[in-house]
Amino acid sequence: MTEMSVCASPSAGIDALCRRLAEFLRRAGRPVAFMEVCGTHTVAIFRSGLRSQLPEGLRILSGPGCPVCVTDPSEIDMALSLAKRDCILLTYGDMLRVPGSSGSLLDLKGGGARVRTVTSALQSLEVARNNPTSEVVFLGVGFETTAPATAITLRQALRHGLANFSVLCLHKTVPPVMRALCSNPALKIDGFILPGNVTVITGLGDYAFLTDELHRAAAVAGFEPEEILASIVDLARQVAENDFRLSSWRLRDVPEGGNPTARRVLSEVFQPCDALWRGLGLIADSGCRMATPYERFDAAKKFGLDPPTAGPDNGCRCGEVLSGLKTPPECELYGTACTPVTPIGPCMVSGEGTCGAWYRYR
Ligand code: SF4
Repeated sequence: MTEMSVCASPSAGIDALCRRLAEFLRRAGRPVAFMEVCGTHTVAIFRSGLRSQLPEGLRILSGPGCPVCVTDPSEIDMALSLAKRDCILLTYGDMLRVPGSSGSLLDLKGGGARVRTVTSALQSLEVARNNPTSEVVFLGVGFETTAPATAITLRQALRHGLANFSVLCLHKTVPPVMRALCSNPALKIDGFILPGNVTVITGLGDYAFLTDELHRAAAVAGFEPEEILASIVDLARQVAENDFRLSSWRLRDVPEGGNPTARRVLSEVFQPCDALWRGLGLIADSGCRMATPYERFDAAKKFGLDPPTAGPDNGCRCGEVLSGLKTPPECELYGTACTPVTPIGPCMVSGEGTCGAWYRYR
């Protein structure tokens, strides 16, 4: 891993970083495309106006970094079916409005279904204890940042023998989808801006394949505009110098080995499994299934739910947007049928979705 260099340090300021970036792009001698894979980066880049300051010849693509956006409609349908069975379904608030094939959890809630929002996974245990005659299901969604909380909750549920509690586990992991994107010949991604919050959990080693094996530029960024821009400068440097080395541009360090406690609980409770990503299809080892001692809490098994399968095309181009193949305005529904008030796909629903960010900030 390279350390921050003075020439590209976030503290150099936006103007100096932009000049440095232009110099590396000139040395690269060709157009380059970098992808961010974090919803918070998506919004930070739009909100800060960074895009308008970037030199010509550089494209910043938004990848599958919003956990709500990558949830497949058939996975939403699984949650809807649980809510229809009179379970108490507990979810983070941003999943409420995401449409499945027959409406959203919010629609069902409006019709009297027992859908409730929680701000932490552990809250769902309290709901289960307070409602012993009801089945309580927590909707586990998100990447490595939220999966540890679900894992700790499952550990507590096992310890206390909560028979009326289960988890619909839709968690996904980031490195496998990046590998899948790199193997798509239609996508020319020269480098990745890596999410600082995910790498704090996983450590940097999980991303070494990008530089060492696939020869893509890779840099971890914090969420301040200067940190993001410094990471972009170093990505351009890696391309210009054909010197692919994972670097970190967070003002606070990313521990090399991540968070050992979080990693331990994740490996105890979950095992990798194939997972369906919206518009991207089935990606090997990109999901989390419960390890044997925890299988009794698997809502999909407990209630005999059909596994998720890719559904019919409804015109939403979230999959192409999430892969960087299309920008939101290239979707025919953008800004007409699909707006933040009448969202058709999750990329418009979520506060971290690319379509919503384009609509609000451009
Ligand atoms: S604009 Fe709406 S319909 Fe089109 S890709 Fe985005 S979320 Fe989907």
